[in-house]
Amino acid sequence: MGDDSIGSALARGLAGRTVLVTGASSGLGAHFAKLYARHGAHVQVAARRLERLDALRSEIAAAGGSVGTYALDVSDPASIDALFEELTGANAVPDVLVNNAGIASTALSLDVGDDDWQATIDTNLTGVFRVARTAAKAMLAAGKGGSVINIASILGLRVAAGLVPYAVSKAGVVQMTKALALEWARHSIRVNAVAPGYFETEINAGYFRTEAGAAMLKRIPQRRIGRIEELDGVMLLLASDASSYMTGSVVAVDGGHLVSGL
Ligand code: NDP
Repeated sequence: MGDDSIGSALARGLAGRTVLVTGASSGLGAHFAKLYARHGAHVQVAARRLERLDALRSEIAAAGGSVGTYALDVSDPASIDALFEELTGANAVPDVLVNNAGIASTALSLDVGDDDWQATIDTNLTGVFRVARTAAKAMLAAGKGGSVINIASILGLRVAAGLVPYAVSKAGVVQMTKALALEWARHSIRVNAVAPGYFETEINAGYFRTEAGAAMLKRIPQRRIGRIEELDGVMLLLASDASSYMTGSVVAVDGGHLVSGL
């Protein structure tokens, strides 16, 4: 790329691109879908709660965006296969996959049940792999490359009490991102991860008003949780050609939380 190419890649935005966002029915995923639609992409929003997706579709369409809704349970292989069969059949294989669907439950490890463990791993780790693998196969079959953005967490890089299955699943996503980037570079599929710090959504609703949550805020160098729009820069960068030489990266957006002093 020449000197002006990065600037023009950013200026072009995502016009003509198709972006699939999993877990788009609330929180970060819904925000990302609106962001990409505003920047000219056709967005495909997928999750289990279809009534939420319908409301999101209306909102995006009312703002002039282009959007399609899809039922998806990332813990169910048949559901993933059905989605990509539909997208392939409609000649609508995404150029960008935002692997965002995730769950969290809080319990000290001695109290973690097998069901909690399995559900977290099935959704956050196995689900992310299956969606990425199926998307990559569809991209290859459609004769194109792409960009996969896995939503990890700073808990994939450091630990906190009460979140063992979640932290393990996100650490797996970090390592998966690097391993897939290595294998898929030859196919022109870039794979990067974003590791958000704390952003208030349904996954952690109320936590920041608890004593533990207030104590945690004091350990963030910037002394506050993030505003969801503070993820926009990295999400646009990784989805666009402005990041054409980035693959296997894990980008933290956390107010300095990962570098908090010991
Ligand atoms: P939300 O709970 O608001 O959103 C989670 C989304 O995942 C929902 O849209 C939900 O949709 C979807 N989801 C859950 N299980 C499945 C499934 N089996 N199949 C398909 N979709 C599913 O939380 P956030 O927006 O905060 O979380 C989004 C991602 O960001 C998660 O991966 C989370 O771990 C990560 N993250 C969040 C942080 C934060 O501070 N908020 C920090 C670091 C990472 P539905 O129930 O309709 O299927």
